Amino acid sequence: MTAGADGPQRTDARGARRSASASAVLRAVLDDGPIARSTIARRTGLSAAAVTGHTADLTRLGLLRELPEAELRRSVGRPHVPVGLDTGRHVVGALHLAVHHATVALLDVRGNVLVQHEEPHDGLPAKDLLARAAEILDDLLLGHAPDREPLGLGFATGGWVDRDSGTVVDHPLLGWRDVPVRDLLTASTGLTVAIDGHARSLVHAEQLFGHPRARDSVVQLFTGNVVDAAFATGTVVHHGPRSAAGAVAHLPVDDSSEPCRCGRTGCLEATVSEATLARKAGVSFPELLALATAGETAAVRLFQDRARLIGQAVALLLDVLNPAVLVLVDRSVAQVPGCLPAIRDEVRTRSRTCADPAETVVATSFPGAELATAGGAVLLDILYDDPLGPLLTHLSHAS
Ligand SMILES: [Zn+2]
Repeated sequence: MTAGADGPQRTDARGARRSASASAVLRAVLDDGPIARSTIARRTGLSAAAVTGHTADLTRLGLLRELPEAELRRSVGRPHVPVGLDTGRHVVGALHLAVHHATVALLDVRGNVLVQHEEPHDGLPAKDLLARAAEILDDLLLGHAPDREPLGLGFATGGWVDRDSGTVVDHPLLGWRDVPVRDLLTASTGLTVAIDGHARSLVHAEQLFGHPRARDSVVQLFTGNVVDAAFATGTVVHHGPRSAAGAVAHLPVDDSSEPCRCGRTGCLEATVSEATLARKAGVSFPELLALATAGETAAVRLFQDRARLIGQAVALLLDVLNPAVLVLVDRSVAQVPGCLPAIRDEVRTRSRTCADPAETVVATSFPGAELATAGGAVLLDILYDDPLGPLLTHLSHAS
């Protein structure tokens, strides 16, 4: 993958091969580090000389560092100086936009959220909201990472996000159409900015830092106020023309007569969105979630009924795409008793292909940090895909 239509492109096959090998070295250290160079060579199939060259490059760029030998599990034979990720040099900015609040955060290169800030934004126009987020990011960088070099800013949200043009094409719940988010954020932050849909970004996050089977094939389903999905085979996330893939908001759901903004009734998003549930309960969504988390019977039942409706969509996605794993991002799945089992039960009843819902249908690897992670992973995916590429070479030229 490249950084986008406006970003610098790789020029030749030799450069592409060099980038792919460096990426393999960095991922081997991410997965198994601290790790000896000889082990990296074995894992990646690269020659010892190639591994030495790449670890030197990646160390110079501040992504790897040599560690005292004691940190490596002792092996017989000559001594090896292990290398590990250098999580102290760089920082990645993250911005996620939900319907009612923005999450601004900083992550290290291992995907750990160092700090996150939630900012309500109801009523703010797009331009003002992005400018406000840029100010918050600046404060976080000054307050929490004064000695680190920012690699850039990743932006993620729901709805239809076109990565290549850097545009939020359509986000009906925010009222955004064709908002040039990448250009606006680049202008206000001065950083390299990349944007993507949050479900796709969370697929990258699962593949890099989360569920091991997500690297085989994975479906990510996001059910908040926005409902959308993403799909990857191997490490390739499917975008489709203008990145429109994953729009499951209007899948029909059985036994729902909920009116949808599209003019029909019984669409998935209209049926299971947080706003719908809160309206049914007559309290705000955070209040309802708190009641259910505390075990209040009526609130728990509302969430469990909703979980069965989500299970319908999960069963359909499993049958169409047959992924190794389907990952749910949903606040009730992590917090409310019985929700994940209810989704799996529904899958057991409805799916023709899923033999073991308990194995296949899982909760996100980033509970409580999924929104910050979604933002950061947009940029971290580019970093791990092409560690010798524009993100860092741009910095090393600048410094
Ligand atoms: Zn609809």
